[in-house]
Amino acid sequence: MRAFELYDATTVSQAVDLLRQNSNRAVKVVGGGSDLVGGIMKDWVHGNGLPFPDVLIDLTTIKELTAIKVDGGSITIGAAVTLSDVINNKDIADRFPLLVSAASSVASPLIRNFGTLGGNINQRPRCWFFRGEDFNCYKKGGDFCYAVTSDNRYHAIIGGELCYIVHPSDTATALLALNAKAKITGVDGSRDVQFDNYFIGPREDVLRENVLKKNEFMTHVEVPSPSSGTKFGWTKLKDRQVYDFALTSVAAAFTLDGNNWKDGRITLGGVSPVPYRAKVVEDALKGKDIKATIKQAAAQIRTVARPMSLNAYKVEVVQGLIERTVLEALGN
Ligand SMILES: Cc1cc2nc3c(=O)[nH]c(=O)nc-3n(C[C@H](O)[C@H](O)[C@H](O)COP(=O)(O)OP(=O)(O)OC[C@H]3O[C@@H](n4cnc5c(N)ncnc54)[C@H](O)[C@@H]3O)c2cc1C
Ligand code: SF4
Repeated sequence: MRAFELYDATTVSQAVDLLRQNSNRAVKVVGGGSDLVGGIMKDWVHGNGLPFPDVLIDLTTIKELTAIKVDGGSITIGAAVTLSDVINNKDIADRFPLLVSAASSVASPLIRNFGTLGGNINQRPRCWFFRGEDFNCYKKGGDFCYAVTSDNRYHAIIGGELCYIVHPSDTATALLALNAKAKITGVDGSRDVQFDNYFIGPREDVLRENVLKKNEFMTHVEVPSPSSGTKFGWTKLKDRQVYDFALTSVAAAFTLDGNNWKDGRITLGGVSPVPYRAKVVEDALKGKDIKATIKQAAAQIRTVARPMSLNAYKVEVVQGLIERTVLEALGN
């Protein structure tokens, strides 16, 4: 592995100062390092658009970012909180069981013990060409997408264009269903961005997966209080029953008016370059009896799916998983 400088920031403002001081170098923030150090840098994955960092700024040494705060019904989770701490927090378990289910489905206990929420949400894609040092594809700053002409069985069926990655983060899919907000800070100040607008697809910028600029990082995730009686559902289908990324996942959070869908969200992982909100399905359910409508509503996902040569199976899978997840959330 190539050498790098590592700084243990102890406050957010110190981390921002380090970003400013190193603005003309390749600099990255790091959480547990399971993706950045253990994956990308060790596997020599780089390209014109993906330079090896010269400088890493450790966020796990910033106390403020390792805390979970409850304020009324909403919860603010520091970006450097480990996934195990998310899973074991009683307030999160009581209010947001969906987040606990999604975080529990990430990787292995060992990785969850040191992998952070911020690292999970901001991890880089797993496309095997992107992760192979020999493929200088669009996402690394090259001029080709190898997935278009090669093995694309795990790639996107919705929203791919130029690049066909699927977003790898299970917690991001759940947090989008929970209408969470990202708190961001950086050299030019701080801002809040709803998860609805946090992730960006290749059409907007093929080199990034979210709105973070080079000199910014995520400090917290804020999850608003759900309405009382909200139903939650989570399903993740994997290729193998040991730890694995989602072939397809579905998160659901919705309220009822009698037996009818009142309001809520259905989000999908493993199908699109961004955690994907299945609005076509939500719209088909709005105001309707859920049990009577869900089959037909889930089929609406076909209207936005554009599978590649080897992944049409995902369209069938996601349709079935949407139906199953919503019915399980109802308790049926
Ligand atoms: C074998 C294996 C299986 C896995 N399976 C799954 C799975 O099933 N589901 C799943 O969701 N994930 C899975 N992962 C990914 C794993 O969960 C992530 O590697 C981990 O959550 C990342 O956390 P980290 O703190 O170690 O990230 P790091 O490696 O520290 O960071 C990852 C990336 O995010 C950036 N980053 C970190 N923190 C911030 C921040 N606060 N603001 C902005 N950018 C930031 C870093 O610069 C880096 O680019 C798997 C990983 C492995 C190795
Ligand atoms: S899908 Fe994206 S990351 Fe994968 S080869 Fe194509 S451009 Fe690269």
